[in-house]
Amino acid sequence: MPIYEFLCPKCNVIYSFLSRRVETEKVPSCPKCGAASLKRVPSRFGVAGGSKTGADSAGGSGDLDDPRIERELMRFASELEGMDESDPRQMARAVRKMTEIAGEPVTPAMEEMIRRLEAGEDPEQVEEELGDLLEEEMGEGGNGIAGEPGRDDGLYPM
Ligand SMILES: [Zn+2]
Repeated sequence: MPIYEFLCPKCNVIYSFLSRRVETEKVPSCPKCGAASLKRVPSRFGVAGGSKTGADSAGGSGDLDDPRIERELMRFASELEGMDESDPRQMARAVRKMTEIAGEPVTPAMEEMIRRLEAGEDPEQVEEELGDLLEEEMGEGGNGIAGEPGRDDGLYPM
């Protein structure tokens, strides 16, 4: 029996569906959230085919494979090593810089975090209060960079 893979854009997860027969038209709905607009994933490419096309909602996010950006990030990383993490103003600068390098738009929660850090608030406190919000803004996957879809291990009826 053929197995088909579909991506749920809402969950940002790829699900596998077991079909009783060859199905080229049918699109199942998401077993988790019920969304009906799943995208067929060509099984050959799997996840590796990747989100190069910028399918993620953030739009215009920097291509992290770009060697120039990678160099920038490396330099930034070494800067971070010398940083005093308990100094909120240094943290604020680091966050701002990171969004610049990645070419990410500064989201409201991010802006709020930077503002509070610049005001000298305790970074741990700020992160605790804004962490969830930030994660939401980072996109569906919540795993950071470019929202690579996850994969559900289950097998669902088509
Ligand atoms: Zn879903």
